[in-house]
Amino acid sequence: MAPSIGAKVVLLREDLDRLIAELRERGYVVIGPTLGEGAILYEEVTSSGDLPAGWSDVAEAAAYRLQEGADRRLFGYSLAAQGWKRHLYPPRQRLFLAERAGRGFRLSSGEADGAPMALLGVRACELAAIQIQDRVFTKEGFTEPGYAGRRRAAFIVAVECGRAAATCFCASAGTGPAVGPGYDLLLNEMIDGDAHRFLATAGSDNGAAILGGLSCRPPTAAELSSAAAQPAAAAAQQQRRISADAAGVLTRAAESPHWEAVSKRCLTCGNCTMVCPTCFCTTVEDITDLSGDIAERWRQWDSCFTIDYSYIHGGSVRQSGAARYRQWITHKLASWHRQFGSSGCVGCGRCIAWCPVGIDITAELHALEQAEQVSKGGDNGAD
Ligand code: SF4
Ligand code: SF4
Repeated sequence: MAPSIGAKVVLLREDLDRLIAELRERGYVVIGPTLGEGAILYEEVTSSGDLPAGWSDVAEAAAYRLQEGADRRLFGYSLAAQGWKRHLYPPRQRLFLAERAGRGFRLSSGEADGAPMALLGVRACELAAIQIQDRVFTKEGFTEPGYAGRRRAAFIVAVECGRAAATCFCASAGTGPAVGPGYDLLLNEMIDGDAHRFLATAGSDNGAAILGGLSCRPPTAAELSSAAAQPAAAAAQQQRRISADAAGVLTRAAESPHWEAVSKRCLTCGNCTMVCPTCFCTTVEDITDLSGDIAERWRQWDSCFTIDYSYIHGGSVRQSGAARYRQWITHKLASWHRQFGSSGCVGCGRCIAWCPVGIDITAELHALEQAEQVSKGGDNGAD
């Protein structure tokens, strides 16, 4: 009988190639973790040989490096340098092309979408980030058609974390390490001596149909409990946390002198926004060829850290680095709730690792909280 949603089976290490082949046969381009540029990158994979077997990552404030892991795990790293946003909402996209035709112009739409994607190795926080971007880009009346099409066609293979990087704080953000609903397949990787296998759980009819084609055995009780222990182990390793009242703290801190202190370190480079899996700001650029026969409109990622981003008729609204850092963190952790019904931060920690000067969103929030406590204490003392 074909498995149904929620069904669990065991895939052996070699079955992962059958899974990738099955996805490819069904027309998906499989994107998964690979090694490149000294980091884990999500790129096309054609077999399990492309995955970073035996490699792990170390992330800290302003630091990221690969290191050899203790075993041959395929998903032994924590996160890729950039998230899935790069594939679901590409950094640069042509919106339309205009070609001179007689006395007018012939318009053609932007680039056609390629084959549907299967995203292999989506972490809990990353699935939460994708769902946040779903709310941004697929809201009724405000749908971004390119994103919506790619997202609708995507097949998600989530992989639960068994370890956390020092920059992770998904447990306090409420987005992980246990993977929530929204995947097609969920994998828990297990290595026990020479036995290398995955517990696979179907999360959709599509996922169940693919598992059915792989004809795998049911799990043992020991395999089930080993997989169930993984997210708790990853949560226990997390050293950073974010306050449940982040929105309140930031709303009350609009005039805090702390913003000036952060701006003395912040380079306004925008790295944090580029690596953030939920940031979505873009700008639009029109270009023409020298003959004037062809014009194109391109959309590309932008950042609220650039001075031009808030430029409106005569000047930028946010002139200072202090104003721009305050805007970014306040939008992420406070006003995002009002706009989209959730925080804009999933606790992936990328902005901490890839900030060249090590500005840490959790530490900045903590500093604001402490300043608030001190000022309350001062007020009490005055009474
Ligand atoms: S917080 Fe760090 S990454 Fe973000 S703009 Fe400032 S220096 Fe760049
Ligand atoms: S703000 Fe930082 S920790 Fe939060 S989702 Fe973005 S990159 Fe990850």
